[in-house]
Amino acid sequence: MVTASSFEIPDMKPSARAEAFLARPKRLLIGGRWVEAASGKAFPVYNPATGAIIDMVAEGDAEDIDRAVKAARKVFDNPKHPWRTMTPSDRGRLIWRIGDLILQHRDELAELESLDNGKPMAVANGADVPLAADLFHYMAGWATKIQGHTIPISVPYAPGARFHAFTLREPLGVVGQIIPWNFPLLMAAWKLGPLLAAGNCAVLKPAEQTPLTALRLGEILQEAGLPDGVVNIITGFGETAGAALAAHDGVDKVAFTGSTEVGKLIVKAAAGNLKKVTLELGGKSPNIIFKDTPDLAQAIAGAASAIFFNHGQCCCAGSRLFVEKDIYKEVVNGIADAAKAIKLGPGLAADTQMGPLVSEEQLNRVTGFMEAGRREGACVVTGGQRVGQRGYFVAPTVFTEARADMSVVKDEIFGPVVVADSFESTEEILARSNDTPYGLAAGVWTGDIAKAHHLAAQLRAGTVWVNCYNIFDSALPFGGYKQSGWGREMGHEVVEQYTQTKAVCIGL
Ligand code: ADP
Repeated sequence: MVTASSFEIPDMKPSARAEAFLARPKRLLIGGRWVEAASGKAFPVYNPATGAIIDMVAEGDAEDIDRAVKAARKVFDNPKHPWRTMTPSDRGRLIWRIGDLILQHRDELAELESLDNGKPMAVANGADVPLAADLFHYMAGWATKIQGHTIPISVPYAPGARFHAFTLREPLGVVGQIIPWNFPLLMAAWKLGPLLAAGNCAVLKPAEQTPLTALRLGEILQEAGLPDGVVNIITGFGETAGAALAAHDGVDKVAFTGSTEVGKLIVKAAAGNLKKVTLELGGKSPNIIFKDTPDLAQAIAGAASAIFFNHGQCCCAGSRLFVEKDIYKEVVNGIADAAKAIKLGPGLAADTQMGPLVSEEQLNRVTGFMEAGRREGACVVTGGQRVGQRGYFVAPTVFTEARADMSVVKDEIFGPVVVADSFESTEEILARSNDTPYGLAAGVWTGDIAKAHHLAAQLRAGTVWVNCYNIFDSALPFGGYKQSGWGREMGHEVVEQYTQTKAVCIGL
């Protein structure tokens, strides 16, 4: 196991291609032009593996949000604008091109993501970037399939009258999109793909910790031929740029992915003009292993990956592990062994399996939870501390013997920290799994199909994975029950959330 004293971070040099991108100025994309922030300010972007500044990015605030919203409105409110008159099939082809260009620039995007976020190159290149491309390819197909219905109506108070009634599915207008830092490019794709398919305009605000791939994506959107002003990108902080976007009266909807705490602020900010709101928020997802699981080794590996993938920085991380009593010790030992075997290092190193947390703030937050768990009396089976003195690394951590009222059990940690506990009956574990304000995801490992269906039906979560975990697909809706969110990402569900229904009734 790595210890604080033995852990050295090598300095990894980015490729010439990534260096060339880093050397370019990082401005805001407003109305098709790359411009400085109105204030002239810029903020630093850090390499989380070393804490070193790797770039400076324009610091947009309320004034820039206003410029961007106006640029988007100028497009959307002009019925003759090429974006508004573009045929659905041309729109679909354009969105497909974005997917193609992402794949064409796959290595560069993966490297920038790894450098900025800290995640291993293998993850960025194997998951984030191809999933982002796939999302655009999937959404390209929806552009031609957004349609209303004809509706036979009766109108009982107008006997003898005849009508032709139908619905139109129309875009919402200008949408503010606020995204987090855990999958920066993929979250931009989840938001922009359906928005474009439905013919809306956007002001996208990437997370301040990880703005780089969104800016590179802005260049790709231009290369794909997206008309100026359809997508505007404002880098900046949440409390300033994000809050201004959520509150802006020229915005018809805000689509947010991030913490439940900020989600509640977004709802309040949106109340001014009652803009539509969709939210993909936090979680504290239960992952339940029954002793009848057909392949225990696979369940253990799956449970380890459920919490340690992307350093636990996943809203759906399987952070509450419940194991049936007879196999509890074996599973806890297995997860702890998996945790100890994970190779920590900078994202750019080829053998890295887990990189640093994204920021110093997250490092302090996650180690704070580790200390609280220990202080409150939970048992640390492995991990439980920072690793090294440079960069934001923490050891993959397994807690046991935690009480239900402890913060490590109740709160979303957003780090590689799992709390394991045993259970004895299905009904007991259902009640305990659902005993959380969150409801994003759940995992079940069992060979009993009836039990699998029973749990899938009774778990109050937007996704239930059975004998697998963290399986995502552009066609599969993802989102939260309870305080884990409003609405869904991906699938046809998200396309509907970027449209509104107009009923048209023609008297004959
Ligand atoms: P985390 O706590 O994991 O960083 P946040 O929910 O704070 O997640 O951040 C997700 C996104 O929300 C980021 O783009 C961030 O800038 C933005 N954000 C943070 N605070 C606000 C706010 N008050 N209003 C609007 N957006 C915000």
